[in-house]
Amino acid sequence: MSFSSAVCALAWLISTLGLWASDPARPATKLRVVCSFLPLQSHAAAIAGELAEVEQLLTKDAAPHESQLTPHHVARLVRADLFIINGIGMEDWIRRDLLKEAAPNLRVVDTSVGLSLRTSPARLLDDVAHRHASAEDAYGAHGKNPHVWLDPQLARQQASVILQALQSADPRNHDAYAANARIYDLQLLALHHEFAAVLKPLPRRNLVTLHDAFPYLASRYELNYVGYVAEFPEKDPTPQELARLVTVIRSTQTGVLFAEEGYASGLLRDIARQTGAHVASLDTLEIGQGGSSVYCQRMRANLVKLKEAFGEPLR
Ligand SMILES: [Zn+2]
Repeated sequence: MSFSSAVCALAWLISTLGLWASDPARPATKLRVVCSFLPLQSHAAAIAGELAEVEQLLTKDAAPHESQLTPHHVARLVRADLFIINGIGMEDWIRRDLLKEAAPNLRVVDTSVGLSLRTSPARLLDDVAHRHASAEDAYGAHGKNPHVWLDPQLARQQASVILQALQSADPRNHDAYAANARIYDLQLLALHHEFAAVLKPLPRRNLVTLHDAFPYLASRYELNYVGYVAEFPEKDPTPQELARLVTVIRSTQTGVLFAEEGYASGLLRDIARQTGAHVASLDTLEIGQGGSSVYCQRMRANLVKLKEAFGEPLR
């Protein structure tokens, strides 16, 4: 081997080793992150970029309120380093004692830590709020509404918790996670400003939805949260509850009711027929597959729907 050939071979070896050492895609060292459902996966994927494997536990058709832990779920969690959850009861279908036994080294990251939470059922414009004897009936021991991700400002705080968890679990990529998170936070902040700017001048602001998913969004952008058909998608309201909702829709002259993508809307459409209200739709982001840009895309689609529904002239 000539001198020049030897230098070339050595340079190739060094560059290859260097690439190997710095390649974030190396399976042996890449952080494995599992997120419970769509919004968490979207935030984590945006912050992790190519530095970690970010999966979603629930399939694109599964609804988090109604899920059940399967052996397939457990197998994926056993292989993971981090399990990122919304908290506030959204993942109570996963028995923590079983999970701890199956995956003792798995770090569970609750992104609701530090958030200012709203009691549920939400306090509405009428006595719809007092339909249930106890908030614990609906939200287990938590008694708080879990739908924090539907407020972009709270989503920023959840993303911040995810950043800290990634940095703690994978300190080698601390600065790269921080750089990704800065960009993503600006995207979420821009989303918040869009919601504020678009919703503020709209003439109609009464919000009635299929389930109790939007109190945080309504509060952030000063919408009148008039009511909802059910606290949860699978929980049928009583005839008395439905009658009270019809009364409050009429008394507040609410002209549009929002069905929710992925959930049956028969009851809501019955109420719309009784009250003469139009039916529009919103997206809770509870169902579907995540991705680094999916949260912002689907929230923007919600903003378009709110603008269309609330921008129409009063009937
Ligand atoms: Zn929900």
